[in-house]
Amino acid sequence: MSIFTDRQQSIAEKIESDVVLSKWRDWRWQMRHSIRDISTFEHLLGVEFEREEREALKETLDKFPLSVTPYYLSLINADDYRNDPVYKQSFPSPSELIIAEHDMADPLAEDTDSPVPGLTHRYPDRVLFHVSNVCSMYCRHCTRKRKVGDMDRIPVREEVKQGLAYIQAHPEVRDVLLSGGDPFMLTDEYLDWILTELRAIPHVEVIRIGTRMPVVLPYRVTDELVAMLKKHHPVWVNTHFNHPVEITASSREALRKLADAGIPLGNQSVLLAGVNDCPRIMKTLVHKLVMNRVRPYYLYQCDLSEGLSHFRTPVGKGIEIVESLIGHTSGFAVPTYVIDAPGGGGKIPVMPNYLISWSTNKVVLRNYEGVITTYKEPDSYEPVFCDRDCERCDLQLKVDSAEDEYRSVGIAELLADQDEVISLVPDSNERISRRNGGDGEADA
Ligand SMILES: *Cc1c(COP(=O)(O)O)cnc(C)c1O
Repeated sequence: MSIFTDRQQSIAEKIESDVVLSKWRDWRWQMRHSIRDISTFEHLLGVEFEREEREALKETLDKFPLSVTPYYLSLINADDYRNDPVYKQSFPSPSELIIAEHDMADPLAEDTDSPVPGLTHRYPDRVLFHVSNVCSMYCRHCTRKRKVGDMDRIPVREEVKQGLAYIQAHPEVRDVLLSGGDPFMLTDEYLDWILTELRAIPHVEVIRIGTRMPVVLPYRVTDELVAMLKKHHPVWVNTHFNHPVEITASSREALRKLADAGIPLGNQSVLLAGVNDCPRIMKTLVHKLVMNRVRPYYLYQCDLSEGLSHFRTPVGKGIEIVESLIGHTSGFAVPTYVIDAPGGGGKIPVMPNYLISWSTNKVVLRNYEGVITTYKEPDSYEPVFCDRDCERCDLQLKVDSAEDEYRSVGIAELLADQDEVISLVPDSNERISRRNGGDGEADA
């Protein structure tokens, strides 16, 4: 049902004079004809840059290469390309060479928290597994910008096997998030092999795949790919739409195939200045997503990676967007706004405040309309001292792994009744190290 738009037709004909729709819709044809230099970009889009600008762009490309599929390029409105959200996400800007004061090469410390190459183990029960170093296009706002174009290659089986062995050896890992690069850059056979190996590990409950293919190269989502994924359920897929113009007939078809295969779909947007930093744009986007059975999952504050300063908004912009969504639209259309903590602390949700005040009897809340209301606390609730001895508890937690829940971590540990820890103290706390005779060991 997918159509060849006029823009697609004209771009396709410039690439190959006798091009037919079936070629355009072949993801390998799209990859073969990816645009990797400025002249081709100008030629296909029908625009021309000033000589000075080209010079500045060349310098940018030396550091951060360009690669965009003909399909994604065809979404750009050439008449107003400077303001075009697709152009801004795909075409280099000399601003990328600006390294702002707080920029970092690896702000999320993914390399530091990596026990084996390509695997980041940050949270207790799940890992991020980079199975591909390549993408079908290079997003200008990539958080892994330092690696883009570095090694245009797929990790060999031996490298992937190290990651698989790590997961095998860590029974606490119940959720494996395949990312990259883009895992759908792998052949169906190779991805099938990885998924089969993961499925053979009994403690892996859920497999997730993070891919931008439905947005930048929807033709990659073939019937064969989807039939293969379906064999490995539960498989969840998260994609990365940032602006409503990215939702086209072709991308809708890709999403439909995935959803029809029983794959729950989520979307992770990045808040980008000049692209989607507007409540109306974000509301339109989330509505289009849910119409296509995609649940908005996260809205990311732009990371502190080098060369992204021109894309960053204040955190207040994200809160303003969430404020404009909660209550105003369907609850399942509202993503969680998160800041991925520099240094590897993980994702931290950020929200407008709804809890205004409280006493032992009542809490005072406000809703999305600004109505201030109260909720009366119960008179009869008997606080139970939880000693984490689930065997003796009246609540019926009769699940096999209940005893594994014993240890609480972080703030949950501070809240736990049976735990004696009363504060979490940084390693470098001077007051505590004086107390311990200056050996620097924090021991609260
Ligand atoms: C985002 C992320 C995950 C998954 O986090 P969820 O909140 O469960 O989606 C896991 N590991 C790393 C390193 C991540 O950055």
